[in-house]
Amino acid sequence: MDEQPSSKTWGKPIKCRAAVSRQPGEPLVIEEITVAPPMAREVRIRIVCTSLCHSDVTFWKMKDYPAIFPRIFGHEAMGIVESVGEGVDEVTEGDSVIPFFMSDCGECIDCRSKKSNLCSNLPFKVSPYMHRHETSRFTDLKGEVLYHFLFVSSFSEYTVVDIAHVTKIDPSIPPNRECLLSCGVSTGVGAAWRTANVETGSTVAIFGLGSIGLAVAEGARLCGATKIIGVDLNPDKFEIGKKFGVTEFVNAGECGNKTVSQVINEITGGGADYCFECVGLASLVQEAYACCRKGWGKTIVVGVDKPGSKLSLSSFDVLHSGKTLMGSLFGGLKAKTDIPILLKRYLDKELQLDEFITHEVKFDDINKAFDLLIQGKSLRCVIWMDK
Ligand code: NAD
Ligand code: ZN
Ligand code: ZN
Repeated sequence: MDEQPSSKTWGKPIKCRAAVSRQPGEPLVIEEITVAPPMAREVRIRIVCTSLCHSDVTFWKMKDYPAIFPRIFGHEAMGIVESVGEGVDEVTEGDSVIPFFMSDCGECIDCRSKKSNLCSNLPFKVSPYMHRHETSRFTDLKGEVLYHFLFVSSFSEYTVVDIAHVTKIDPSIPPNRECLLSCGVSTGVGAAWRTANVETGSTVAIFGLGSIGLAVAEGARLCGATKIIGVDLNPDKFEIGKKFGVTEFVNAGECGNKTVSQVINEITGGGADYCFECVGLASLVQEAYACCRKGWGKTIVVGVDKPGSKLSLSSFDVLHSGKTLMGSLFGGLKAKTDIPILLKRYLDKELQLDEFITHEVKFDDINKAFDLLIQGKSLRCVIWMDK
């Protein structure tokens, strides 16, 4: 006999509050919305807490496609499963889960390979819909569709996420720590650990010391890097960086008549072994590439620039330098295997998470999280749904 679901809301629409973005760059508005039940292979989640990542800000400010409004942003979160759709047996009602934006279907050639996290069954895109069924689960009070963001849309008390975008986690870890592994910290640590595979004793340069850049520093430190150079325009980030193993700082706004890459080439005697771009500017990718070591240097693109922005590299220089240029989405991690590994490293007191949380606000104050990140005052601001 089939087990009867115990939830009173199972199979029914739920009315709840969500922070809706109606116009690019305008403050989010807390509204009552309806969240439809999960379809096949989907999970409806009660969000416990969520935090703001710069990728939310980028697409919230953007006016043209793939920007679309009205939209529910948020893709870094932790929650509890409320109900599941047909064909879901990996999680059940009451489970603590982390949703994530990169699909981990576990079945396609890429998910089965150790070399990539770029799923081909449900390939990454900035879609306004659910991944598998290409429709929205959100409507406003007038019955009009609200669009999804990065397959997570966590700025809502309830959301629906595909099972390929959810992993079950240890419920004993504080939700605000777990939430950080949903995007930012995992991305940065993974970029150093999985994408670059930083070696012991190496030299690393990181452009941009937000949570992503500092998580790269944390990952590089865990991999045994000995020199970690942080580059930022905001000098406040330098003191913070020390906590994450950054050993030297370059203020990108105070290099005089030199470029940042010239300064780093001088500090490192010919370039860093690994350079990470964690701001989202093509010009900085070029700077990073210009100061990674010839022959074996790797430049890893983590920052998200505007779609369509171009790099300009001389093919002659690429040929002669022998350097590697790589992109890294979600730090190259396979979420379902690697998030639990990172949580264990946190419990074992190896991986720092606490230090990333600089602010916490209640859901009604979600716009404060935007102000803090834009003004460079926060690393991660955790937004609590029930406070
Ligand atoms: P953040 O705003 O917290 O940090 C960005 C940092 O860059 C700030 O400290 C800022 O002062 C610094 N900065 C800005 N312009 C600079 C310049 N010209 N030179 C040097 N430093 C400069 O943002 P975050 O949340 O850490 O995100 C960083 C980037 O990573 C964003 O582009 C975000 O979209 C991207 N991201 C990528 C992935 C991925 O999977 N690849 C995942 C999450 C975030
Ligand atoms: Zn993110
Ligand atoms: Zn896959």
